Amino acid sequence: MAEDQTVPEARKEQVVPEARKEQGPFEAVNQFFDEAADLVHLKDEFYDVLKTSYREIAVQVPVRTDDGGLRVFKGYRVQHNGARGPYKGGIRYHPSADLDEVRALASLMTWKTALMDLPFGGAKGGIECDPTGMSAREIESMTRRFTLSISHVLGERRDIPAPDVNTNAQVMAWMMDAYSSRYGYTPAIVTGKPLDLGGAPGREAATGRGCVYVLEAAAKRWDVNLGEATVAIQGFGNVGSWAARELHERGIKVVAVSDVSGAVYNAKGLDITALLGWAGSYRPLHDVEGCDKITNEELLELDCDVLIPAALGEVINRGNADAIRAGIIIEAANHPTTPDADKVLSDKGVRIVADILANAGGVTGSYFEWAMNIQQFRWKETQFNTELQDAMVKAFDACASFSEKRGVSLRQAAFAIGIERVARAARLRGYV
Ligand code: GLU
Repeated sequence: MAEDQTVPEARKEQVVPEARKEQGPFEAVNQFFDEAADLVHLKDEFYDVLKTSYREIAVQVPVRTDDGGLRVFKGYRVQHNGARGPYKGGIRYHPSADLDEVRALASLMTWKTALMDLPFGGAKGGIECDPTGMSAREIESMTRRFTLSISHVLGERRDIPAPDVNTNAQVMAWMMDAYSSRYGYTPAIVTGKPLDLGGAPGREAATGRGCVYVLEAAAKRWDVNLGEATVAIQGFGNVGSWAARELHERGIKVVAVSDVSGAVYNAKGLDITALLGWAGSYRPLHDVEGCDKITNEELLELDCDVLIPAALGEVINRGNADAIRAGIIIEAANHPTTPDADKVLSDKGVRIVADILANAGGVTGSYFEWAMNIQQFRWKETQFNTELQDAMVKAFDACASFSEKRGVSLRQAAFAIGIERVARAARLRGYV
């Protein structure tokens, strides 16, 4: 999001993922839903009401550009299910963030918050735009206009946005300010804020760190020695870079990382500290000297023990599933694996820790931040991390036990636990 940045070629290719020709993301997520709902014998009449969204808003977002022109973007907020509490979920800025994608991601948030037993429902928002070609002023203006356009359905006890792809603490600060200018000072209206505005120490790292806590829990249960393992991470944004840092600090070998410009690879392990410094000043990984360069596609197919897709959705699909060689996949991104690919990989015995479990550290950290804001109290980062680790390990163990007992995949287990909780809440409230 640095000023004057032009759109890299690789990004343009990402606009409509190849896999979307197989199946739209909402249909894909609902395929996962159907399989899991059958496992918990969900009553037939509940399928539709639990799959469809409660409310979907599409708004026009006009932005005056720096050169005096006017651009109009499409913005969305989808509130999927609120049976267990206020709607919760991030806001993404990306060319592929159309209504179908936002709807799919909102439903994933419903199952994710329920799986983590957080007192939230599921939502997602997005603007169909490419922020890498926009200045900071244009992004601020777009953010404020979008926030005001959807503000009537937001609220600290109604719907609480957070960062997602291409949004960060600064964007949350603008959202909080825009909302507060209309309704009065409301820090709990968004999570993932800067520390100076009520953000929680630990929240920024929470998604990446949560992935590593889950990987450690998985390694313990499956008797995998992480000291001898190799890890490849696709994506070096907030989630990928924090996961890499946490792995590196534990002495676990990260052999490849990537951004939109391409991937760097070193079979002996990369110097993650140096790469964090390099990427921290917005330099493309492809320009790093002293390591082999491979493509994002090649990274996914590397001969490694653990693969962490931490970028966009649908990157593991029918086209490459056969070629994936990792034995464990930790889905740090949302919906990185299509149902077709999921089947191919599961049949091969690859163990996939699904997105709604693997990346749930983000929304769990958001819950801590929100609860702190409401109580006007702040935890130390050590407490934040301890609570986060407990929550991640507990959710992983619940999914692993369900999967072992029922002979189903970890994804099916994660969805089944989430669906059962939401169905129970909806029934008790009496609206289904
Ligand atoms: N965008 C993150 C996710 O997909 C975090 C959402 C939140 O904290 O509300 O889980």
